This record gives sequence, C-alpha cells and structure tokens, in this order.
Amino acid sequence: MVYNAARLKDAGRDIAREGAMAKLYASQMCERVTSLCVELFGGYGYTREYPVEKFYRDAKIGTIYEGTSNMQLQTIAKAVLK
Ligand SMILES: Cc1cc2nc3c(=O)[nH]c(=O)nc-3n(C[C@H](O)[C@H](O)[C@H](O)COP(=O)(O)OP(=O)(O)OC[C@H]3O[C@@H](n4cnc5c(N)ncnc54)[C@H](O)[C@@H]3O)c2cc1C
Repeated sequence: MVYNAARLKDAGRDIAREGAMAKLYASQMCERVTSLCVELFGGYGYTREYPVEKFYRDAKIGTIYEGTSNMQLQTIAKAVLK
C-alpha cells in the first residue's frame, strides 16, 4: 500500500486516499502486533523491565499523530464518496 501511494505520488496523482489507507493499515497493524507481544510476555509485557511495553507505546502513537485513525477513515470515506 505504501509503495502504491508512492508510485501514484511519483506520477503526480492525488494520493489523499491511498496515503490515508496506507497510514491507517500500517499503524493499526503495528499496534496489533505489538499488543500481541505484550500479551505474549504476560505481566512482564506490561512492566518496564522488558522493552515490549515501549514498542507498544511507540506503535500506539502511530494511530494518533499525523492524523488519528478516525481522521484517516474520514479522509478515505470522503475520497470514496466523491
Ligand atoms: C507525541 C505527539 C507528537 C505530535 N507531533 C505533532 C507534530 O509534530 N506536528 C503536528 O502538527 N501535530 C503533532 N501532533 C498532533 C497529532 O498529529 C494530532 O493531530 C493530535 O494529537 C490530535 O489532537 P488531540 O490529541 O487533541 O486529539 P482530539 O482531536 O481531541 O481527538 C481525540 C479523539 O477524538 C477523535 N476525533 C476528533 N475529531 C474527530 C472527528 N471530527 N471525527 C471523528 N473522530 C474525531 C480522534 O480520532 C481521537 O480518537 C502530535 C501528537 C502527539 C501525541
């Protein structure tokens, strides 16, 4: 999805929809994977003794900054309904 958005950008196309789709999917997948890591470590996953809690926080922020997931969904919906 990222490469598709980049390819369209290189071609001078508007990539609002494709960029939002790539950002939404990648950030939510990162959050899902790191959340599973926390679970895999059990209680230790939640503590600061192991780095996975930081991986989770670092992944979670991806769903918030540069446009929250809700805002990406709105961008995609507007582009699809246009
Ligand atoms: C660590 C960090 C670094 C950042 N760095 C930058 C930066 O360098 N440059 C920059 O410009 N910004 C930056 N931001 C801001 C970031 O990109 C978001 O724009 C900002 O965090 C969102 O505003 P808010 O936190 O007040 O949340 P809110 O806007 O209050 O949102 C709270 C919740 O409500 C939802 N929501 C809000 N409005 C709507 C709506 N209309 N429809 C549906 N749902 C809605 C959101 O999706 C979210 O789930 C940063 C934020 C953080 C936390």
